[in-house]
Amino acid sequence: MMYDAIVVGGRCAGASTALLLARQGHRVLLVDRSSFPSDVISTHFLWPHGMSYLNRWGLLEQVTDVTPTYTTIDIVNDGITLSGSVPPELLREYFRDLHGDDSGVVGSYASVRRRVLDQILVEAAAKAGAEVRTGFTVRELITEDGRVVGVRGRAADGRTYEERARVVIGADGRNSFVARALDLPKFDERPRCTFAYWSYWSGFEPGRGQIHRRGRLGGAVVPTNFGQNMVLAWGPSEWSREFRADVPGNYQRALDFISPELGEAVRGGTREERIYGTLDQSGFLRPLHGPGWVLVGDAQTAKDQCTAIGITHAFRDAELVSAALHGWLAGETALDEAMAAYEGRRRSQNAAAYHDYVCTLAEMRPYRHDELQLFVALRGNQEETDRFIATHGDVAPVSEFFQASNLFLLNDAAKESSADYAVFDDFAATSRMYQQNPFA
Ligand SMILES: Cc1cc2nc3c(=O)[nH]c(=O)nc-3n(C[C@H](O)[C@H](O)[C@H](O)COP(=O)(O)OP(=O)(O)OC[C@H]3O[C@@H](n4cnc5c(N)ncnc54)[C@H](O)[C@@H]3O)c2cc1C
Repeated sequence: MMYDAIVVGGRCAGASTALLLARQGHRVLLVDRSSFPSDVISTHFLWPHGMSYLNRWGLLEQVTDVTPTYTTIDIVNDGITLSGSVPPELLREYFRDLHGDDSGVVGSYASVRRRVLDQILVEAAAKAGAEVRTGFTVRELITEDGRVVGVRGRAADGRTYEERARVVIGADGRNSFVARALDLPKFDERPRCTFAYWSYWSGFEPGRGQIHRRGRLGGAVVPTNFGQNMVLAWGPSEWSREFRADVPGNYQRALDFISPELGEAVRGGTREERIYGTLDQSGFLRPLHGPGWVLVGDAQTAKDQCTAIGITHAFRDAELVSAALHGWLAGETALDEAMAAYEGRRRSQNAAAYHDYVCTLAEMRPYRHDELQLFVALRGNQEETDRFIATHGDVAPVSEFFQASNLFLLNDAAKESSADYAVFDDFAATSRMYQQNPFA
């Protein structure tokens, strides 16, 4: 049978794309070598635009029925706490700008285990009419006259199958087989990134999501499914070898350093699973599309976990690409036009700036004096704090918040209003201390 689209990879990017295309009446084959439900090497924080996508697709309740949510987060940088939330008007602007309408916008956050989230997405894709084959590994792309026209792969029964489609969608993650088979280049590669180790804890109540940073280390605690909290510690890849020499000890040591309160909570809590970890988080971009193929999610834009955005970006791609391909599959637009719509002005402009923002943060250099001053300046200025949080989560463009005129305004306002402006008397000594590897 000839499909309209074959989607390779059935998680946040692939299952969502298959779901949206199938709902528009297209014949979709979704394949994944995994079986579901299953986890992947990933934590699972969702920003409000991620939650809004689920709501737009009618899946939010299924998630919130089994996952705690909250409407405010804490970002604590070197002891400076910024609490707030992405402003609803910026969320609505984001959806109007990217997708042409702002229906279904919600302001909540959640952290959904992938074994829960990906299963909901795959089931929804099947219910919408996509043919779902799990345990199916794509091993070859079929090309004719320089154009991808299908895939060859091995199914769970051990047999090889050949399937054809008008377009093959690579949603197969950072090590994308589709991208490798096409020999696609990586660009804007950023090898410096974080190592990340996390586990699941019961016995304490963080209430809402907290993201911490101290010196060159980061940490997060978020309530998640099954009455547990996910607690994550991360640091610069140059320190990973020493960290790995004693994972449980260094995980606790890192948490104690980043936030003594979090360290204490974990020490008094019960670890419910093993400690998971990864070192493979370098950032890069790949071309978005070509003859007969298109990439979505991590296959196209992979980056460090430090702003917890990959799942939300995968959802964004799913909605953009399915809308664009629908026009072409329905015979309303040319393929070039459809792909230009997927690439879009807003997506392409901000993708590069945000990629740079994440990759620079992922180097985990200690905050500079002026950066700390900015955080002090933001304290007590709720509107700008919320705008900063929206920028960190890629709702508002990086270039707007960090433009010089805005930073000058913030500085001036803080000088007028804040008694503890520029309080970093011990900055030089602290900076020196932050440079030392605590795991060595
Ligand atoms: C440590 C860590 C923490 C993270 N924390 C967060 C977070 O808090 N919030 C957030 O939003 N993002 C987070 N991310 C990023 C997030 O995990 C990714 O952005 C997201 O998983 C991308 O989804 P995807 O569908 O593109 O790819 P993936 O989730 O990687 O799925 C790809 C799928 O393709 C399948 N596949 C691959 N090759 C083949 C083949 N040849 N044939 C068939 N199937 C194939 C795989 O089996 C897999 O199921 C984190 C990442 C890491 C590493």
